[in-house]
Amino acid sequence: MSTPPADTPELLFHLDLPTAVPAYAYFAVKGWVATLAPLHAVFAGPTATGQPLAFTPRPDVSAALPAYAHVSGFVGQATASEIVDGQLHLTIITDRGEHPVTCPLTPPPFPPAAPQTDFPITPALRAEKIRRIAPHLACPACKAVLPDAPARDTCPACGAAFQFSPTLLDFFSSAQRATIPAVGATGDSLGGYDEVMNALVQRFADGLILDCGAGLKGRLHPNVINLEIMDYPSTDIRAFNESLPFATGTFDAVFTLATLEHVRDPFAAGAEIMRVLKPGGIVYSMVPLLVPYHGYPNHYYNMTVEGHRLVFGPSFEPLDASVPLSGNPMWALSGLLHAWHNGLAPSARPEFLNLRIGDLLAPPLTYTDRNFVRHLTPEGALEIAAMTRFIGRKRA
Ligand SMILES: [Zn+2]
Repeated sequence: MSTPPADTPELLFHLDLPTAVPAYAYFAVKGWVATLAPLHAVFAGPTATGQPLAFTPRPDVSAALPAYAHVSGFVGQATASEIVDGQLHLTIITDRGEHPVTCPLTPPPFPPAAPQTDFPITPALRAEKIRRIAPHLACPACKAVLPDAPARDTCPACGAAFQFSPTLLDFFSSAQRATIPAVGATGDSLGGYDEVMNALVQRFADGLILDCGAGLKGRLHPNVINLEIMDYPSTDIRAFNESLPFATGTFDAVFTLATLEHVRDPFAAGAEIMRVLKPGGIVYSMVPLLVPYHGYPNHYYNMTVEGHRLVFGPSFEPLDASVPLSGNPMWALSGLLHAWHNGLAPSARPEFLNLRIGDLLAPPLTYTDRNFVRHLTPEGALEIAAMTRFIGRKRA
């Protein structure tokens, strides 16, 4: 390599990700840096603290910038504190010292907002929410509008009968209601809303948001309708996700959080979510990929991002697909290890606990005689199986 011209900049860099201010407090960072002096580290943030980003090869950049002797990609995770005034700060360390740089980002798709006021659960607030959704109700069976609901608790078109009270609209038929198992109040709720959901609750303060499969909530947002199969104290509407009791184009946003893995027909559920959204309305959806079996009361389908997108059909326009902090791969690893440990006969647990990760990298079939494999109960194996098997036959 020849000596570069005297006016060659000390360093060049480019940020591939993020392109906009992330909507999340935790996000991926990816890019490259080219330096004249030997390169030591790249940190996300305005100072060289914490763990540096990982280096990756970037032969494309090396080929394009022959004047630079030191070229590397960088990749890692960062947090919102590393973004100041809409710029991601990086600190690049070379033989010649510490180089703080900033990367301008375009504005966020969902500007963060202070959490909108939420309220304790009271009969008065529950009744107010029922009044708010009442003009938008439709029969879940035939989709006829229900102009007299909740005063009239039958469908004028098909005769379907419902159970309405001032604080809960239960759209189940008695036969459907009998199929809902009694489960504990813990459910599968993710608890509080994240920064994106809070921004949407704020943005649509005068509109309507559907929390589809809301679980048990401790507080209520006046503009968020909680739909559940369970009649929790925070439930506004009892119905199945596959046949929603709302008119087409009712909601400004729909939240579906760790719910679509529990519905029997996720494609029907996704189509219903898109139907009840206004044109331009926002879908905010989380579905597990590598999470062990969990009932609450049933668990049918985990999803990849590709499958997740597919359930919302052709009218779904993707805005962002990423891993939330609550879906960090550590949850997958931790869930697998906890389920494996809990599924073992107690006598086999010490051997399992003393394994090192390096002990687990041989081909899977070489472990079949080990106690931590042999002593996994059939139920424990089904919970975390790489694959399940069914054998059946067509009824005669
Ligand atoms: Zn009807």
